[in-house]
Amino acid sequence: MSPTQKQVIHVIGGGLAGSEAAWQAASRGVPIVLHEMRPARPTEAHRTDGLAELVCSNSLRSDDHQNNAVGLLHEEMRRLNSLVMRAADLNQVPAGGALAVDRDGFSAAITEALAAHPLIEIVREEIALPPPEWDNVIVATGPLTSPALAEAIGQLTGEDSLAFFDAIAPIVHRDSIDMDVAWFQSRYDKAGPGGTGADYVNCPMDRAQYQAFVAALVAGDKTSFQEWEKSTPYFDGCLPIEVMAERGPETLRHGPMKPFGLTNPHDPQTKAYAIVQLRQDNKLGTLYNMVGFQTKLKHGEQTRIFRTIPGLEHAEFARLGGLHRNTFLNSPKLLDGTLRLQAMPQLRFAGQITGCEGYVESAAIGLLAGRFAVAEHREQIALPPRTTAHGALLAYITGDHFGAIDAGPRSYQPMNVNFGLFPPLAQMPSKHPDGTRLRGPEKTIAKRRAICARALSDLDRWIGGAKDETVIAAE
Ligand SMILES: Cc1cc2nc3c(=O)[nH]c(=O)nc-3n(C[C@H](O)[C@H](O)[C@H](O)COP(=O)(O)OP(=O)(O)OC[C@H]3O[C@@H](n4cnc5c(N)ncnc54)[C@H](O)[C@@H]3O)c2cc1C
Repeated sequence: MSPTQKQVIHVIGGGLAGSEAAWQAASRGVPIVLHEMRPARPTEAHRTDGLAELVCSNSLRSDDHQNNAVGLLHEEMRRLNSLVMRAADLNQVPAGGALAVDRDGFSAAITEALAAHPLIEIVREEIALPPPEWDNVIVATGPLTSPALAEAIGQLTGEDSLAFFDAIAPIVHRDSIDMDVAWFQSRYDKAGPGGTGADYVNCPMDRAQYQAFVAALVAGDKTSFQEWEKSTPYFDGCLPIEVMAERGPETLRHGPMKPFGLTNPHDPQTKAYAIVQLRQDNKLGTLYNMVGFQTKLKHGEQTRIFRTIPGLEHAEFARLGGLHRNTFLNSPKLLDGTLRLQAMPQLRFAGQITGCEGYVESAAIGLLAGRFAVAEHREQIALPPRTTAHGALLAYITGDHFGAIDAGPRSYQPMNVNFGLFPPLAQMPSKHPDGTRLRGPEKTIAKRRAICARALSDLDRWIGGAKDETVIAAE
């Protein structure tokens, strides 16, 4: 294949996602031009001109592929010939069960491998707007996308579809909510479009519980903004829960914790003083987000304080809250199943700008984007099975998220890979191999192991070219 303009893939952004996308595509014989704006134009967080620079922690988190969703993602990426994982394994430093790396060695290994690849050309330049003649582009410019390109993307997608800050409310695994205390009901039983009248999980508080909760929010340890994040635009409807609590003891029960229009079926005679509501977050119905609970509380504080909410005493959090400078698309609305912008299919997005969160997730989505972009030149794109970590993350980004219509911050917010994104097992494990019954936490461990085993076996079938997966004909 000669590298005509039509066949070249342009990757914009040489971070975690762009580097992996370029590697995957070039490994399949397609010429790549990788455009990275550093060092000519720096970001607020990057410190070097290396590709795939880790801007903060040097950890890629758990490496346990039998019990942990991010460890599973590592293993899937290894099986998919990931450059990011190869560089991480070569530059590992001791970190217990986590995969932590020497950040300079990691970035250097990736930069050298890409620079040495005969099909990859690295150009150090900012792309403010991809020229119209580029017909196969991967935009992987990350949370700190340059303002010029962000503005161009904003114009293509509509202002409301590109966010510049996230406002993340915690997400809870549905099966960890105590439904002997909580109950399903929509306020005033309103069904609304697509609802049933019983769409929210409600957690009731009496006066003493509410007052103690508000005091804990006010006293709780918060993370501070980075210097360059200090202009965070708090707009009403998106205020952190603790900022609302600081405005007065009654503010929350007239805001996201208002108790009106709800009756507790477990105790219909007693009116709750305040109610925390959780709303379905994914189509599978395995995840629920805490409505209006975006927060800058430290993660440990969130777990401690939110588990004092009746019904959430044993809550398992799929995601904890946060508020950061970020740039991300309303992907479920804008992107097709292979990460292309529906309104301009020559643009495909990858990495954190799609609304995944984290180094590994960004690289994994880059991996898929690189493969999809190559398949664009050929005839078919086979999606990774929904049961794999790649498939689960892709499904969340491209449509599985359950959009909300309420006022307040947009409900699609950045997400780490977690077990709540995977389809439930056809059969829950209930016994040890020796036939004795699983008890308590053993069930959770067995469930995680079964999800991981299913994922890897389905991934291997996909790698082997399984014919039974959804296949999208490239246009
Ligand atoms: C301050 C901060 C700290 C973070 N800490 C962590 C952490 O500890 N752990 C974790 O897992 N995740 C962390 N993240 C989240 C995120 O996973 C990482 O930012 C990750 O690097 C995202 O990968 P990416 O490839 O999407 O973007 P990046 O790795 O940021 O890569 C994007 C690249 O695009 C380039 N670029 C931008 N605009 C243009 C343009 N117009 N033209 C050409 N090039 C351009 C940038 O210079 C950059 O090299 C952090 C994010 C931020 C902002």
